[in-house]
Amino acid sequence: MSAKLLKMPETAKLYEGKAKILYNTDNPQILLTCYKDDATAFNAQKRGQIKGKGEINCTVSAALFTWLESLDIPTHYLDCPAPNQMRVKAVTIIPIEVVVRNIAAGSLCRQTGLPEGKVLPSPLVEFYLKNDELGDPLLTRDRLFLLDIVSPEQLAVIEEITLKINKHLQEFFTSCQITLVDFKLEFGLDSEQRILLADEISPDTCRLWDQTETDPQARVMDKDRFRKDLGQVESAYQQVQARVLARIKELI
Ligand code: ADP
Ligand code: MG
Repeated sequence: MSAKLLKMPETAKLYEGKAKILYNTDNPQILLTCYKDDATAFNAQKRGQIKGKGEINCTVSAALFTWLESLDIPTHYLDCPAPNQMRVKAVTIIPIEVVVRNIAAGSLCRQTGLPEGKVLPSPLVEFYLKNDELGDPLLTRDRLFLLDIVSPEQLAVIEEITLKINKHLQEFFTSCQITLVDFKLEFGLDSEQRILLADEISPDTCRLWDQTETDPQARVMDKDRFRKDLGQVESAYQQVQARVLARIKELI
């Protein structure tokens, strides 16, 4: 853990997750999230560290949130007091992981037999329950309503924002010569029950393939390098950061 994290008083700690620590601030509407170098995969069965990941994921997320805000996507992002720290609007997280897939990979291939790399005819939006004990199961719409996780109206808003984000991010990453294969989003409700994009958008939560590489292993620029022990994890994350920040600078 970096020295910056240790400066925060333990009493302020609200929650420690696998990738970030949440701290309360003087303002109950604002939380401080500290991004860690800790890496986990397969529901935390595999654990390790990716040097510099905390700073990379925080700065990449901050840049993408800032840019999405400029395109009228409401996010929890406020600012970054340090490279691995982000101040965010406190929200009540809606306990679903919203996954968007443009190309078949990962569990979609394992569960359906679709070949990895198959371009999907249209983006596939899926909902997984955010529950480590249950192994984050894939939910149906009816199960979402049965569990009273969202109302049909809220789900419609989430789907609409999600597809807009996908369109923007696909275009954005293409301009960085990166293919956005799939990614995970989390949403939350603010004090006025508005739906905000929360959590992070980073190489931990996206599958990103380098368009300048043809080899199926060499092109991987995301957490799959860690999951599959492909090596050069740090340099892949650095490469994503360099390309994203350079492109964002041109856009805003
Ligand atoms: P996890 O181990 O559940 O993936 P992380 O370490 O990635 O957790 O993140 C810590 C927690 O912070 C997650 O449960 C995430 O949903 C939550 N979170 C993200 N953004 C906000 C926010 N704006 N307000 C409240 N909680 C948030
Ligand atoms: Mg997480």
